[in-house]
Amino acid sequence: MAEILNAVAVCAAMQPIRISGKHLGALSLPDFCPRCFWVRLKCRDKIPFTFFPGIFSSIDPYTKKVTSFHHEKYSKVPKWLNGFGELGKPLPVPPHSKFQTLDPETNVLLTGVMDELYRRRDASLVILDNKTARFTANQDKLLPLYEVQLYSYAWIAERLGMGKVGALGLVYYEPQTDLTTKTVDEVLLKDGFAMRFQAKVLPLDLRLDRIPPLLQKVRDIYDLATAPTGRTGCKDCRMLDRLMKVAMNNGARAVIPAKAVQG
Ligand code: SF4
Repeated sequence: MAEILNAVAVCAAMQPIRISGKHLGALSLPDFCPRCFWVRLKCRDKIPFTFFPGIFSSIDPYTKKVTSFHHEKYSKVPKWLNGFGELGKPLPVPPHSKFQTLDPETNVLLTGVMDELYRRRDASLVILDNKTARFTANQDKLLPLYEVQLYSYAWIAERLGMGKVGALGLVYYEPQTDLTTKTVDEVLLKDGFAMRFQAKVLPLDLRLDRIPPLLQKVRDIYDLATAPTGRTGCKDCRMLDRLMKVAMNNGARAVIPAKAVQG
């Protein structure tokens, strides 16, 4: 009882922080910058000049439909997922409003949305994350981030009492863009063209022990009174400085007439 009261008291003294599993993964990248991380945390991960190409908001749900309808029609997962061994039955993925857990040690709320969830015959869970990308050197660089993203999902699932996680993995759906005059007929349709995606699977080890130290790091960085020093030689920071100077100069001037802004 005393321990619980102590944890509640510690929590109450700390500002709550909400972070997604993917954002937490940034901490494990080789070029991690504590300054950028601090800024994003303080802005609740809502920063200007970022956009998510619209095509991915269509491809991601489409990919999930392919595996789900395949299971509905043939009562088994598509062949390309066999690399994960027995997957069992697909389960509905909980929405992000439900799939979250608060760490009482750090008062950090860890959230996320899984792409695919299965329950094996032994009742263990399998969590998969889809990536619409080629498994290139650049994706390889992002692998530490993706690993933490999946460890986060496993951590949340177990803490929510959904069951023990038995396996985790990434599925890369690589767009097939090689085309010649000889093969063009294969992709032509009456009203457009089709594009193939080839799947590559990457099973990951389960490392739940990686999560608590990362949550502590989030707390430590968030609690810094001022932004820490950024990466040396980062071109983006020089551009950010320039942008700040422009914004400050504009702020000092009189309001620009709407006509001048419109040109
Ligand atoms: S050094 Fe680069 S990565 Fe770090 S805060 Fe500046 S822009 Fe962001």
